[in-house]
Amino acid sequence: MDTRVYPNTQLYIDGEWRAARSGRTMPVVNPATGDTIGSLAFAERADLDHALEAAARGFETWKRVSAYERSKIMRKAANLLRERIDHVAMLMTMEQGKTLAEAKAEINNGADTIDWFAEEGRRTYGRVIPARAEGIYQLVVKEPVGPVAAFTPWNFPINQIVRKLSAALAAGCSIIVKAPEETPASPAELIRAFADAGVPAGAVGLVYGDPAAISSYLIPHPVIRKISFTGSTVVGKQLAALAGQHMKRVTMELGGHAPVIVFDDADVTIAAKAMAASKFRNAGQVCISPTRFLVQEGVYDSFVEQFVANAKALKVGNGLDKDTRMGALANPRRTRAMEVNLEDAGKHGGKLRTGGHAIGDKGNFWEPTVVTGLDNDAKAMNEEPFGPLAIINPFRTFDDAVKEANRLPFGLAAYAWTKSAKTANAIANAVETGMISINHVGLGIPETPFGGVKDSGYGSEGGSEAIESYLNPKFITQAGI
Ligand code: NAD
Repeated sequence: MDTRVYPNTQLYIDGEWRAARSGRTMPVVNPATGDTIGSLAFAERADLDHALEAAARGFETWKRVSAYERSKIMRKAANLLRERIDHVAMLMTMEQGKTLAEAKAEINNGADTIDWFAEEGRRTYGRVIPARAEGIYQLVVKEPVGPVAAFTPWNFPINQIVRKLSAALAAGCSIIVKAPEETPASPAELIRAFADAGVPAGAVGLVYGDPAAISSYLIPHPVIRKISFTGSTVVGKQLAALAGQHMKRVTMELGGHAPVIVFDDADVTIAAKAMAASKFRNAGQVCISPTRFLVQEGVYDSFVEQFVANAKALKVGNGLDKDTRMGALANPRRTRAMEVNLEDAGKHGGKLRTGGHAIGDKGNFWEPTVVTGLDNDAKAMNEEPFGPLAIINPFRTFDDAVKEANRLPFGLAAYAWTKSAKTANAIANAVETGMISINHVGLGIPETPFGGVKDSGYGSEGGSEAIESYLNPKFITQAGI
């Protein structure tokens, strides 16, 4: 494998790949080695103005392309992405740290997402409403909201963009993507697939730079009609407030702190294996990562033992190595967060069952870590750890589990394990969450809703709900005179 091919990433504005007007760049670091592997073009005001002007023109062009033609171009982009998977996966692993297998799964899922929205765009039906008088036709048609500004994080460099990009384009909107500076090359390949498939100039723009400077300029700008953000709750609230001041529509996919409720009647072996795989996927840097494990007393010891065994069996290393099962954390902020969480856990009753330490002195490697017995004042019991940390605590009754599951202001994902249909129904009803996966891991596919409640945000990024947030209903009433 030739790892010398990591590129210097450019901006994509008005149908052209180019440097920033100022010539400014920023380095990109491989989280597995600590080496600088490339750079990105750093957009400033002049570049943003160009991107906005192009997005306004691109919208006028793209909204006039029929839904049928839009769909064909999008499906071509999906196929180009699939053809280029080996190259794009290598770039993603080099810049983000995840394993090649995870990178490929993300790219395949991304291509499936493009296909799904390509088809969904052909079904943005309106309706005819019976009128109160003869000769009147009352119609509802769906129109694209206009140019979109999307802000996405580094944990899933392609997946976080593709949901916004595909829904926006399928609806007939243009879009400017502010992609993650720490992982810029694989998102650029996603955009390249669309450019090469024939999306017209201005319909898609790609910029990098100072996230706060870019969002505070794009969100209030009159060209932009819709904002979509994925990231932390703290930043999401700031951006939603700014969007509110300017009456912009918003989709917010924010942090979570997913409870996993394992009942006495669960298949503990299957649950421990599936949940460990899910916990340590992408080194735990996943908004729907299972985090607070609540295990009923009767199976608590057995679950802990089996979960720990699964965690210990994971080989941690450079994501490019074939036998690696968990890669590096994406940036030093995450290893620092692990240190802080574990130091704090020691003061709050936490018992370390495995892991707990950084690995090596190069790159951001951390052991898969399991802590039991943490009290509710511990930092990790309240803030999303966003790293390879599982916290397991026992519970006695159904109500105790529900109380703990709903204690936090977040409500993105939840998991439950039980062989009783009655318990499964009851827990699905009781947990305040946008998504719940019972007896398997089944969240995050293109055709199903994806989004949270409470402080985890609002709006959906999957399923038929997702495209609605890029459409305005227009009512037309017409008399035949
Ligand atoms: P952060 O909160 O500063 O950044 C999170 C993301 O938001 C990054 O992509 C960043 O570029 C972007 N961002 C930050 N400020 C912004 C602004 N003013 N305007 C536009 N975009 C902005 O810090 P971080 O260290 O990257 O991540 C910290 C926490 O964020 C994590 O612990 C996790 O809780 C959360 N996070 C969530 C997701 C998710 O999938 N929901 C993804 C990444 C990070």
